[in-house]
Amino acid sequence: DVCVLGSFMKDLVASADRRPLPGETLHGTGFAEFLGGKGVNQAIAAARMGARTAIVGTIGDDRYGEEFLDLLKADGVDTAWVVRHPELGTGVGLPLVLPDGSNSIIIVSRANSAITPADVEAAAGLLTSSAVLSVQLELPVEASRAALQLASTAGVTTILTPAPVGPVDPSLASFVDILVPNEVEAAALTGLDCDDESQVPAIAKRLAGEWDLRGCVITLGSRGAYVLDLVAGIEARVPAHRVATVDTVGAGDAFCGSLAASLAAGATLADAVRLANAAGALSTTVNGAAASAPDRSTAQALLDA
Ligand code: ADP
Repeated sequence: DVCVLGSFMKDLVASADRRPLPGETLHGTGFAEFLGGKGVNQAIAAARMGARTAIVGTIGDDRYGEEFLDLLKADGVDTAWVVRHPELGTGVGLPLVLPDGSNSIIIVSRANSAITPADVEAAAGLLTSSAVLSVQLELPVEASRAALQLASTAGVTTILTPAPVGPVDPSLASFVDILVPNEVEAAALTGLDCDDESQVPAIAKRLAGEWDLRGCVITLGSRGAYVLDLVAGIEARVPAHRVATVDTVGAGDAFCGSLAASLAAGATLADAVRLANAAGALSTTVNGAAASAPDRSTAQALLDA
């Protein structure tokens, strides 16, 4: 089974021809709403890849919170350990998208910021009986650490996506088995440049040494991924699948959710990365984040093609 500890973010996306000036009210050209947050995206991705999946996190006692519970239940994700905060509303993201596709985003974490180690410990039975725990860095670090420590001590395989990019609390390292940065995060963590393809193996080895990892997977966007499995002694460069990409938002989450599902089913890290590489590619062919994760048979078909 897969357990995901992570964020819930309702995105309210406005499009406009330009950014408003200070004091200005500007007419927008479009609006869309999406349910996301890395925690939700990864949990849905893992469930669609066939894993029995539960999510731990915090939402508000509000309409957006209800939307999340409905969405997760529709994909069979267990929401029994989702805490509803009595005062803080569900987290929101307010992206402004310009005609060239670039965006500016305001995030208000709200209920996500209220999750405590005690909330995590209440789910200890779930955390310690899962095969795989996947955690990102959108929640308070104390809660993330509590979950990683509980799971790691119980022998659960722990995956950390060090996103969003930024400094990472070094106290997390000893509880992480597999680190899955994208190229921006890998560069920020090491000061080395992933654009230089020849550097990628060295970056993975550096992270593996510093974090005392069992595996390091670097996602390389349209270039695919790189996997270093220190237990099996395998390293491999996995090229990207050529697909008709329309929206890369959520590709990393589809990749990580799929990776967690495969590992929970007993796959080797290299095989799990190959299927995740197909899942990540397929997610870019559909708009949205949580909604864009593929199911297992579609990902397997792309891998076998
Ligand atoms: P993030 O979304 O965190 O920035 P990446 O951009 O590295 O993560 O994407 C995650 C994975 O999704 C990649 O490793 C790759 O497997 C897949 N992927 C992303 N973009 C593309 C693309 N344009 N074509 C094919 N696969 C892609």
